[in-house]
Amino acid sequence: IITGENFEMEHRFRNTEGIYKWHLSRGLLQNDEYGNRKIWIGTNTEMHQIKEEEKRKGDFLKMVSHELKTPVTSIKGYVQLMLIMLKEREATPSSSLKTPLLRIDSQLKRLSRLISEMLDLSRLETGKIELQKRLFSLNDLVTETVQDIKFTNTEHVIKISPEFSGSVYGDKDRIEQVIINIINNAIKYSPHNNVVEVRIHSAENKQIAVSIKDYGIGVDAEHQEKIFNRFYRTDGKSEENYAGFGIGLFIAKEIIERHNGIITIESKKGKGSIFTFTLPLAMETKQ
Ligand code: ADP
Repeated sequence: IITGENFEMEHRFRNTEGIYKWHLSRGLLQNDEYGNRKIWIGTNTEMHQIKEEEKRKGDFLKMVSHELKTPVTSIKGYVQLMLIMLKEREATPSSSLKTPLLRIDSQLKRLSRLISEMLDLSRLETGKIELQKRLFSLNDLVTETVQDIKFTNTEHVIKISPEFSGSVYGDKDRIEQVIINIINNAIKYSPHNNVVEVRIHSAENKQIAVSIKDYGIGVDAEHQEKIFNRFYRTDGKSEENYAGFGIGLFIAKEIIERHNGIITIESKKGKGSIFTFTLPLAMETKQ
């Protein structure tokens, strides 16, 4: 009642036979006619069977992604090898193989990313993502990551404005994964604009923030909160053409929140979006 937020929790209750069953509890705050908080209306629903099916689905996804990983990794290795072999005899007629091989390579990268996302998802659900924390410069990480992305996306202009500079104590690879995900989305959902702006700035409560702005298709207000849920994708006409599974932002949010930061979106449909994540600042560095 104090915060005015809705309440939702999945938990187990013990029944009269002493067996624990999963329940979904929800609470909704009701205001009186003057807008003062009055009562909380709540429900408790048994959902044991649904929960067990969810677990089976999760186990299945985990198994599928593990099974997919091995062949994809092996194909990727052979494609890389063939590309190197082709490079060594560049001028020969066989170089006509280069274009199809590069296409296969880029499709394989997408496939591997998807498999990693699926694996991360099951790890997150079972609480098995471990953070390897250390101190690192967020500015350096942003610069390196942007350089890597530019390497494969030559048509896009990604500008960095480091207005603030500092280090954080966290899992560098995971934070990199968040940056890649948001920038890749900024590129993917901007079919008619090729500018992406990355700003590093200070935020409230001694935090450092990274904002990634695009001028793409944007997200409607009604979808903005939900796009951080797993499997959620906006269902507009214009979004249908973009490949994806709606897992990336869910993972990004989990990673940022496990670092005690927050991730937010500001957006206008048709105008573009700004995704911002914050992290506790470990040390400010002079620019
Ligand atoms: P996906 O693999 O579907 O891109 P994400 O979890 O990364 O999954 O994103 C969830 C949804 O949020 C996307 O399907 C898309 O509808 C929306 N979205 C994410 N980033 C942007 C962006 N920069 N501009 C417009 N829509 C976005």
